[in-house]
Amino acid sequence: MKALLIASALTLVGSCANHSYTQKIENLKESIVFDSPETVVKYSNTISPDELSEHVHTLSSEDFEGRETGRQGFHKASKFLKDFYINNGVLSPLGGDNYYQNIPKSYFTKDSPASQNVVAFIEGSEHPEEIIIVSGHLDHLGTTDEATYYGADDNASGTAALMEMAQAFAIAKKEGHGPKRSILFLHLTAEESGLLGSNYYVKNPIYALENTVVNLNIDMIGRVDSIHKEKQDENYIYIIGADRLSTELHYISEITNNLFTNLNLDYRYNAEDDANRYYYRSDHYNFAYQGIPVIFYFNGEHEDYHKPTDTPDKINYGLLQKRAQLIFATTWYLANSKDRLKIDKM
Ligand SMILES: [Zn+2]
Repeated sequence: MKALLIASALTLVGSCANHSYTQKIENLKESIVFDSPETVVKYSNTISPDELSEHVHTLSSEDFEGRETGRQGFHKASKFLKDFYINNGVLSPLGGDNYYQNIPKSYFTKDSPASQNVVAFIEGSEHPEEIIIVSGHLDHLGTTDEATYYGADDNASGTAALMEMAQAFAIAKKEGHGPKRSILFLHLTAEESGLLGSNYYVKNPIYALENTVVNLNIDMIGRVDSIHKEKQDENYIYIIGADRLSTELHYISEITNNLFTNLNLDYRYNAEDDANRYYYRSDHYNFAYQGIPVIFYFNGEHEDYHKPTDTPDKINYGLLQKRAQLIFATTWYLANSKDRLKIDKM
């Protein structure tokens, strides 16, 4: 009898708390509004499958030799990005034509030569000190005597998405629709050797970490994994980490997707007990570890993952476009919202 009484008292408390929680979430969702969705669509449409394809093909060409950290192919790829940003009027946060955050050889545990994160920057008009970081690793596995590891999905796909997003924001800015907060496009080195480029960045940030609002990290977004092939559902993306530090970020991501892209957001790998531990396995984790909210965008593993057969002909460029457009619109919101993204969990 007593036990039952306690149970029903608890139920009562529980339902009260649930009610106010539901109300809070409703209020939060209602507060997430795009001022001018048609403007977002306009610039989002400059992200095209053809241009993405061109970038992916260049980045994963024989010429770039699998982009191994610090090797010739990696430096060629870095130069390719730098030239792209100069040609598109996207400035460097380091000033002049220095687009490289240099990392000394001593920093690398493996026998890697010195290398660099490649950085590009769109300055905000109202809160330039508040930084949105969009990142993706540039490096891949290089070559062996037998083969080149082209890394078209891992991560030329994410690299191309960053390039197209930066170009879209640059065009918008030129036409008077620049972001209120600043956006840093961060092409990371040495992800494959242990998230070292992002580790270096958080220890040597170009902009203070307390002013870093969020990190959206992209690693492999051009393919369909076997889980979704079987379901015949190619219209998806895995979302990992969005709700870990900020409830608001999760809903921004969902509402943006409902409004613009209608992808199926798959949260299976976001489970805290997920055995794959993807939340800890790409560069965003170094930001999350510092208390910065993150979203990790990922298409899952496939039969060509970390194999020489990860080639540009196997990328679905229409799907890559759609995923990049989701990330673009999410970045747009985070860079233009009235208030800075709130952290409510630690
Ligand atoms: Zn990767």
